[in-house]
Amino acid sequence: MAAENIAVTRETFDNVILPVYAPAQFVPVKGKGSRVWDQQGKEYIDFSGGIAVTALGHCHPALVETLKRQGETLWHTSNVFTNEPALRLATKLIAATFADRVFFGNSGAEANEAAFKLARYYACKKHSPFKSKIIAFHNAFHGRTLFTVSVGGQPKYSDGFGPKPADIVHVPFNDLAAVKAVIDDHTCAIVVEPIQGEGGVMPATPEFMQGLRALCDEHNALLVLDEVQSGMGRSGKLFSYEHYGIQPDILTTAKALGGGFPVSAMLTTHEIASVMAPGVHGTTYGGNPLACAIAETALDIINTPAVLAGVEARRQQFTDALRALDSELDIFSEIRGKGLLMGAVLKPEHASKARDILNAAAAEGVMILTAGSDVIRFVPSLVITPEEIDAGMTRFAAALRRVIAA
Ligand SMILES: *Cc1c(COP(=O)(O)O)cnc(C)c1O
Repeated sequence: MAAENIAVTRETFDNVILPVYAPAQFVPVKGKGSRVWDQQGKEYIDFSGGIAVTALGHCHPALVETLKRQGETLWHTSNVFTNEPALRLATKLIAATFADRVFFGNSGAEANEAAFKLARYYACKKHSPFKSKIIAFHNAFHGRTLFTVSVGGQPKYSDGFGPKPADIVHVPFNDLAAVKAVIDDHTCAIVVEPIQGEGGVMPATPEFMQGLRALCDEHNALLVLDEVQSGMGRSGKLFSYEHYGIQPDILTTAKALGGGFPVSAMLTTHEIASVMAPGVHGTTYGGNPLACAIAETALDIINTPAVLAGVEARRQQFTDALRALDSELDIFSEIRGKGLLMGAVLKPEHASKARDILNAAAAEGVMILTAGSDVIRFVPSLVITPEEIDAGMTRFAAALRRVIAA
């Protein structure tokens, strides 16, 4: 079939794509900064950031420049050979964090899969094969492989795919007593998002995170932080564990790491990494030169005082606008989150309207997200301009007024 005869409208989706998504009715074709255009040339302000991925906006000139340069140099070699961009990116991630060893993957799920396998393997090699219990949390989200949906705390994502990996226990988030009740010396890891993203934009309390660290130390268990969404500057720090005065044993990052190019990383210490050996784990594409070169550029830009300090000012502008809207419409019970991972929680009487609000916002020309059933989520570019925030919030306000009036 000639390429020009292939239909590429929204209707085509239903005929050619596995029906696991329900995409918006418009099809984006172009982006620049925090603006996106659809097939009809209609403009949108992007508060969705490709789900917290495009942290430097669309087609950032420095990322495009690296994509072109590395694209004309070397794309892929496999891990039978190492490469310069991977070694540079790993060195910079280590310099910027608690870590001293890095494993590269291609998605958040893949980084988490590596993290959970490492936690089990470390316990098996250093302690006992029976030290396999993983403690995780209700509403947690860790990805879509069978292990990661099983550690995730939303049974709707794992039901029907059994038998599931065993010895995983879920307890309420931010409930230290519940963790104390289930942790024992057979526990190999506690897995937690410092700010739950998909589960409703819910930050961990400092007491909770510090308590988890202490419980892990007491029971020789590893503290695994899933910073796939909360990391890479999203919270105003490079990684959100820095807000809590603790250090993890293993940390995963993805989403914003490549600014829109698929890449993920699992970070850990030398001591934990030392149980691994060639052949124990791996992935074909992980750490490829193209992905790592782009991530290095993204890290160079994000890990600067200018970008990290700018997060709080932008958050303020968003929350001021959301509070003003709330005093007009009396619709939110809470504005929560950290940095530019923000959730506006709908009051119970409006809780069923999240999807309608999302659709109305698109009609007005602003892309937003939900998180859970009753939370409107904003995860824009970390370098979105004040004008773009203003324009987007004006459109969002029009959408909200329309849904509330209906
Ligand atoms: C998105 C997300 C994942 C999964 O990442 P994928 O790239 O979709 O595999 C895992 N953990 C958290 C906290 C996430 O937000």
